[in-house]
Amino acid sequence: MTGPERKRLRGIIIQQIETLQQDITNLAILVAPIAPDVAIGRLSRMEAIAEQGVNQTKLHQSRQKLASLRQTLPRLDSPEFGLCEICDKPIPLARLELMPDTRSCVTCLDKQQGR
Ligand SMILES: [Zn+2]
Repeated sequence: MTGPERKRLRGIIIQQIETLQQDITNLAILVAPIAPDVAIGRLSRMEAIAEQGVNQTKLHQSRQKLASLRQTLPRLDSPEFGLCEICDKPIPLARLELMPDTRSCVTCLDKQQGR
């Protein structure tokens, strides 16, 4: 991987981190407990609780992704960065641009997941 490519990926990671931080802030508001005295009907209250569950999952996933991206930043300068952890082949740049925190290529990931 070339210097400019690393620099580009660093920019993408920082941008993704900023987006996730914003998402997490918004989701944290959405998953705040629903007050029982909120003047909404029984059904809509149940809907609100169901939606809260969805948002809770999203919040959890966003936090995991954020942690993963943060861990990627210090790895960017290592010579192994961008190489698949399993087959040691370079991970295509297009894949890294979409998922900079990925540690394996699509082929190995598919094998791992038994696809
Ligand atoms: Zn691989």
